[in-house]
Amino acid sequence: MAAPTRYAEVLLPLPVSGTFTYAVPTELESAVKEGVRVVVQFGRKKIYAALVKSISDRPPSGYEAKSLLAVLDEKPLVHERQFRFWEWIAAYYLCQEGEVMNAALPSAFKLESESKITLDVTADAGKFLLGEKEELLVESLLHRKAIRISEVAGILDQRKTLPVISSLIEKGIIRMEEELPLKYHPKKETFIRLTEPYQQDESLFRELFDRLEKKSPKQLELLMSFLVLSGAGTGSVKEVTRNDLLKSVHAAPAALEGLIRKEILETVTRTVSRIGEETAREDVSSIRLEPFQEEAFETLHRGMDQKGVVLLHGVTSSGKTELYIKLIKETLDQGKQVLYLLPEIALTTQIINRLKKYFGGRVGVYHSRFNENERVEIWNRVGAPAAEKRYDVILGARSAVFLPFYDLGLVIVDEEHDSSFKQYDPAPRYNGRDAALYLAHLHGARSVLGSATPSLESYYLAMEGKYALSVMSERYGKLELPEVEVVNIREEARWKKMRSHFSSVLVSQLDEALKAEEQAILFQNRRGFSLRLECDTCNWMPVCKNCDVTLVYHKQMNHLRCHYCGYTTKVPDTCPSCGNRTLRMKGFGTEKVEEDLSLIFPKARIARMDLDTTRSRYSYRRILDDFEQRKIDILVGTQMVTKGLDFDNVSTVGILNADNMLSFPDFRSAERSFQLMAQVSGRSGRKKKRGRVIIQTYNPRHPVLADVVNHDYVSMYRQQLADRLRFRYPPFFRLIRIELKHRDSRLLGEAARDFALRMKKIFANRVLGPEYPMVSRIKNEFIQQVLIKIERTYSVSHAKESLMKEIAEFHRQKEYSPVRLVMDVDPV
Ligand code: ADP
Ligand code: ZN
Ligand code: ZN
Repeated sequence: MAAPTRYAEVLLPLPVSGTFTYAVPTELESAVKEGVRVVVQFGRKKIYAALVKSISDRPPSGYEAKSLLAVLDEKPLVHERQFRFWEWIAAYYLCQEGEVMNAALPSAFKLESESKITLDVTADAGKFLLGEKEELLVESLLHRKAIRISEVAGILDQRKTLPVISSLIEKGIIRMEEELPLKYHPKKETFIRLTEPYQQDESLFRELFDRLEKKSPKQLELLMSFLVLSGAGTGSVKEVTRNDLLKSVHAAPAALEGLIRKEILETVTRTVSRIGEETAREDVSSIRLEPFQEEAFETLHRGMDQKGVVLLHGVTSSGKTELYIKLIKETLDQGKQVLYLLPEIALTTQIINRLKKYFGGRVGVYHSRFNENERVEIWNRVGAPAAEKRYDVILGARSAVFLPFYDLGLVIVDEEHDSSFKQYDPAPRYNGRDAALYLAHLHGARSVLGSATPSLESYYLAMEGKYALSVMSERYGKLELPEVEVVNIREEARWKKMRSHFSSVLVSQLDEALKAEEQAILFQNRRGFSLRLECDTCNWMPVCKNCDVTLVYHKQMNHLRCHYCGYTTKVPDTCPSCGNRTLRMKGFGTEKVEEDLSLIFPKARIARMDLDTTRSRYSYRRILDDFEQRKIDILVGTQMVTKGLDFDNVSTVGILNADNMLSFPDFRSAERSFQLMAQVSGRSGRKKKRGRVIIQTYNPRHPVLADVVNHDYVSMYRQQLADRLRFRYPPFFRLIRIELKHRDSRLLGEAARDFALRMKKIFANRVLGPEYPMVSRIKNEFIQQVLIKIERTYSVSHAKESLMKEIAEFHRQKEYSPVRLVMDVDPV
């Protein structure tokens, strides 16, 4: 075999730094292209699908490159811009490109050691002199068509199997079976249509009908049904799916077989999409903007031209989505694609249908609840060349930034303030909003960040002139913003006016709403929704044996559960600490609210929406649909109820306890509380009637509550901004949080001190910690954290460079090398 002259730089889906060089066997030279997957051996035993990032003719210096084993794709899976994007994410969020690759590719594109080898039927094994082990493997493959790589060791009776496998692959005798067809199953469907003579000549039918009527009435029934379903007689060839046809009549498959035998009908099998196709039903030009919207739209346009990025600050129901739809239309007319990001939970049927109404089958949806096959289809259709099959508008959650867009013209990030755009675990710990802005920059696309309650960071950048700002402070159709009332539940309790968790004000408002056949939403922050057990005598509380947290009571299962590791245990009868039978439930759960509410309003139809009731893919949608169809009067829920719902019969919103949001120990808690309360308030208000919001609190003087009552974002912003400057937080300072983890708390303590000292060497007094975070042990690993606060004038790239150097030094110390470091840039 000729010596290789080409070398491929490949990315591995692993947390290892940089690319690796592999030699390209001469016979694969024409197949190896940038962006295709290749099979390589990495380490002693493992085989991976790697991605070719570049090709050169320089061999690596200092070692001999291994050959790559096979090429998996004909056409590139990933293109140049995506590689640039991945590089940026890795550099900005301090992780490896391999980790970004792992997050970016649908897992059906990944090869696992479950991959199989097969004999290449075209190969001539006799040409080579095979080694004993090679013979053995070929022999086995003659008996069994495919063998898993993990089984080879057993067959050869030796641990080192890869040299044998790669040698056979190089000789072209065996092949890696591509994993993709195994994992991705295109959906096939059988269609029924008329055979050619009957398509051509309608007069044939008359005689046919007579014949069938006498001899095979079942077949006639089926044929009639086919003609109805296919809308025959209107020219072009009409097809009906076999399933639809058989469902339409009672005629069994036998009747169909009969008609096929008589060559009246015939079948065709074709690959179809799993994703429903729709056609647009309405034209964007039918949207008539109100004057205030028109004005905002113009500002938006001007801003995009001048700054590229616009913050659209529009109150709930001001028509932000209508403006997006207009922008999307413009972008499509230029032949470019659109990425429209929403928090996962806000990706409801409502918004999907709204877009499909205007853009039909050009809209694709992408989020984590899709299965692997669906994701591969969407991936392929975003990069598809054929115009009619291509998705030009992607509505997606944060991971949609990784799709292979060929030419983005517009990026929309709606609800841009939402913290769920940030990926927490595993790396890359990226913020979908910020990554999308960078992606837009790579494509030279325009961007809009939209929110009724922008993040302080984005609003600050708008104030600083980095982004343009467009404002809508009215609601569409002269709808008024809701009337917000703060109720002091301490006072109510003193006068014994509380019923369970509901103030008299809220109860009477709910009562009124129910009488008027209006709907209500009751919101409780997730943190306030857990039930905990506590001993009245000694204050003992059950804690997790693996984590440093108290366990939460689950009524349905009647057990105590850890929300971090899933550990569960029975509810004890007596207190394990003092032995008394004085264990009591503390706090209140969604279930409890639902229960107590039904005692007060026995006739009301009440439903709850929380993590427990929405585990499955469809239950969340079902609850929302029921609510929309008014099968539910009162919806009780957590954060989930605040996102992007648009129900015009909701007159009342109750916030059960504002305090557990406001008092949460985090520098963003005031901002978050304002956002949550303003968003959930925005769900109320009907066409002709002003909505009402009731906020229950022990602390009615809290300044944030006044801002919510007055719908005054800017006041909240100013107040918070002053605090952020004083306490050195974003937007004035960038945060990098580093968590150190290890099972041995003493070792961890030492390592964290050493690490913090190293950080202080570079960043001086910008370093905080080490300290234990609020939850200091999870799954038996102790955690310490170090926080670095970097002012905006400090060069971030420089900071990150010295940081990574110091981390490498730290890990070079043998005793600390098992300590895990988790980097979080811009933590939320
Ligand atoms: P936002 O996204 O700001 O919350 P939406 O775009 O959802 O607001 O608008 C709220 C409601 O008002 C929607 O039902 C929308 O269809 C309607 N709406 C807003 N602007 C217009 C308009 N110009 N013409 C017709 N309907 C509109
Ligand atoms: Zn006790
Ligand atoms: Zn636990």
